[in-house]
Amino acid sequence: MNHSNDVNVRRLSVDESVRLVIERARQLAEQLIEHRGHSNPPFLPEEYAPLQSVKAIMKSDLGQSSGVLLRYPDGYVIKVNANQHIVRQNFSCAHEIGHVLLDDLNLVPQVEEVAYRTFNPQANGEARAKARERLCDIAATELLMPSFVFKEYLSSFGASVHAVERLAHVFRVSITSAAMRIAEISSEPCLALLWQPLRGPKPPCLRLSWCVGPSTNAGIVRNAPVHTQVRMPSSLHRAYDENASVKSFRQFRLGNTIKRLPTESKGFGSGENRYVISLAFPSR
Ligand SMILES: [Zn+2]
Repeated sequence: MNHSNDVNVRRLSVDESVRLVIERARQLAEQLIEHRGHSNPPFLPEEYAPLQSVKAIMKSDLGQSSGVLLRYPDGYVIKVNANQHIVRQNFSCAHEIGHVLLDDLNLVPQVEEVAYRTFNPQANGEARAKARERLCDIAATELLMPSFVFKEYLSSFGASVHAVERLAHVFRVSITSAAMRIAEISSEPCLALLWQPLRGPKPPCLRLSWCVGPSTNAGIVRNAPVHTQVRMPSSLHRAYDENASVKSFRQFRLGNTIKRLPTESKGFGSGENRYVISLAFPSR
C-alpha cells in the first residue's frame, strides 16, 4: 500500500507522528494490562506479539542484525539475535513490533515524506529510514516501559542512580534505556548522561556520549554539561573505578544559563564495556 501520492492524505509533522506512535503504544499497553489483569512489570514483547498479529518470535544467529520483521499474508514473524544480551533482545523485538504498529497506522509513507522535507530535501533513503527507525525506538520504549507504570515505580523508588539499576531490573531493559526513561518522564526535572572512556590515553579520559533531559514539546532547549571530556582525577573516574555511587556538583548549560547541579554517578558494566551513568537535578 502506498499512499504517498494520495493528495487527500493529510501530512503529519514529526511531532504529530511521535504523538500518534506513543498513543498507539500506550493503547497496546493498556490492552495488555486488561488482558492479563495486572499492571506489574515487566512488559515483555512476547506478551504484545499476539495483540499485533505476530505469529512467532524466533531467536537465532542474525550476525550483525539485532532483529528482523518478516511480513506474511497471515501475520508477522519476528526474528531476534540470540547472541545478544536478553535486554537487548527485548528491545530489538519491541522495536520490530514498532514497525508493525507503524504499518497499522500507515505512518511510514508520511514519516518518510516528512523526514524528506523537514531534515534535508536532498536526503537519501538512509536519512528517511532514520526517521522511521527512531519512531520504532519510541514505540519500543513506550511498550517496554509504559509511562504511567514507569512513573509509579520511579516515584516509589525516587530518582537516583540506584533507581536506574532497580528499574532496569524490574522492566528488563538496559541500564541506559532505564536512565533515559527516567530523564524523559521524571516529575522532578532530571538529566541523564552516559560517559564512556576515550580509547587511547592512559589514564582514560571520560567522554560524554549523550545527555537526555525532560522531553519538551518543542525539543529546542539544549541541556548539556559544560565539560564533555573529563580528565583524572574526577568524581566520574571514581564512579568508573569503584562500585559505589558518587555525588558531586557539575556545571551545566541549561538553555542560556550556566548552573552548578548536584549530580550522582555510578559505573556499570565491566572491562571494555565499562561506562558511567550520571543523573543531574536542575531543581535541587
Ligand atoms: Zn527497524
